[in-house]
Amino acid sequence: MKQELDKLLCERYPKMMVNRNKPMMETCMCWGFDCGDGWFNILDQLMGNIQHHIDWNNRNFEKGYAQYKQVPQVTLDQVKEKFGTLRFYYTGGDDIIDGMVRMAESMSGVTCEECSAPAKTHGPGWIRTICEPCEEARELARKKLDEEYEFKKILKEGNEQ
Ligand SMILES: [Zn+2]
Repeated sequence: MKQELDKLLCERYPKMMVNRNKPMMETCMCWGFDCGDGWFNILDQLMGNIQHHIDWNNRNFEKGYAQYKQVPQVTLDQVKEKFGTLRFYYTGGDDIIDGMVRMAESMSGVTCEECSAPAKTHGPGWIRTICEPCEEARELARKKLDEEYEFKKILKEGNEQ
């Protein structure tokens, strides 16, 4: 994920991001959000809902309202893409937060990881969730790179003769 989007999530949800700058021997979170920019909104909504749930419950618990339980603060351990969907590993939380995370992970399976458009998870080989225009753009970029490589090879061979 782009550095500026990563930074935005760190600024918006500092309590969840305490591991972000810890050394890699201690946490995978040192790598940041290891997925495409297209999932930024899913992460932003998920983290916003989680923090709101925690703050709301804990505030009411502290006021002594019997129907509220204390919810342990969520801290992120690792966030990445795997087999085309989002994986959100964390410590703390409760069953409701668990449900929010399942929902977010399943939304990533129908959301383009590059641009947020509706998409499908597909392989073979590298399994990714990516929309058709992004797939075509990627294919085109790869062809261009291949052609440039071939062209340079021909130039080089020409110079060597
Ligand atoms: Zn796309």
